Amino acid sequence: MNSNTNLHPNVKTLLFSENEIKERVQQIGREITKDYQGSKELVLIGILKGSFMFMSDLVRAIDLPDTLVTLDFMSISSYGASTTSSGVVKINMDLKEAIEGKDVIVVEDIVDSGLTLKHLLELLQSRKPKSLATSVLLRKKEGLKVEVPVKYIGFDIPMVFIIGYGLDFAERYRELPYLGELKEECYKH
Ligand code: 5GP
Ligand code: MG
Ligand code: MG
Repeated sequence: MNSNTNLHPNVKTLLFSENEIKERVQQIGREITKDYQGSKELVLIGILKGSFMFMSDLVRAIDLPDTLVTLDFMSISSYGASTTSSGVVKINMDLKEAIEGKDVIVVEDIVDSGLTLKHLLELLQSRKPKSLATSVLLRKKEGLKVEVPVKYIGFDIPMVFIIGYGLDFAERYRELPYLGELKEECYKH
C-alpha cells in the first residue's frame, strides 16, 4: 500500500501491504516456475471468490512457456456470513474441464481449520490428476484441525479475521488492495 492510501475505517490493523503481498506472490510464482519445469500441462484451480486476486497476480508471476498452462475455477462455500468454519463444504460451481492426467495446483485464499481444503483435495484426487498441489495465501496455524498439505504458502497469520485482497466479510471488503484485520465490532454483536 502506498503511504498515502488510507486504511478502510473498519480495518483494525494492516497485516500485509500491497507491496508486501506483491513481493511474496512473485516469490511463489518463481518457485512454481522452477518446480514445474518439464510439465506438459498445468492447471491452476482458483477457488472463488476469495482467491481471485491472488490467482490473478500469481498466474502473472509464473513463466512456463513450454507448458500448456490453463486456468479453471470452482466455487465452494463453507462459511456463509459467519466467521467460524462449519466444516460443511458445498460445491456451487464445478470445474469446466477434466483434470485427469494433468498437473494441478489449487489456489486458495486462506486455510483456518483446514476442513474446506481437505474435503476439496479428496474430491479432486478422485479425478486422477497427474499431481495435486496447493498454493495458499494465508494460513492460521493455530486453527488447523486436520492435517492438510500446503506446498506454497504466502504468510502464516494469527487467529484474527482477515479481509481484503479478495477476502470478504459478508461479501464486503474484497476490493481492498491490502490484507487487514477486521474490527471486532464489525462482526461481533
Ligand atoms: P477452513 O475450512 O479452513 O476452516 O476455512 C476456510 C475458509 O474459511 C476460507 O476459504 C475462507 O473462505 C474462510 N475463512 C477462514 N478464515 C477467514 C478469515 O480470516 N477471513 C475471511 N475473509 N475468510 C476466512
Ligand atoms: Mg477460500
Ligand atoms: Mg468468505
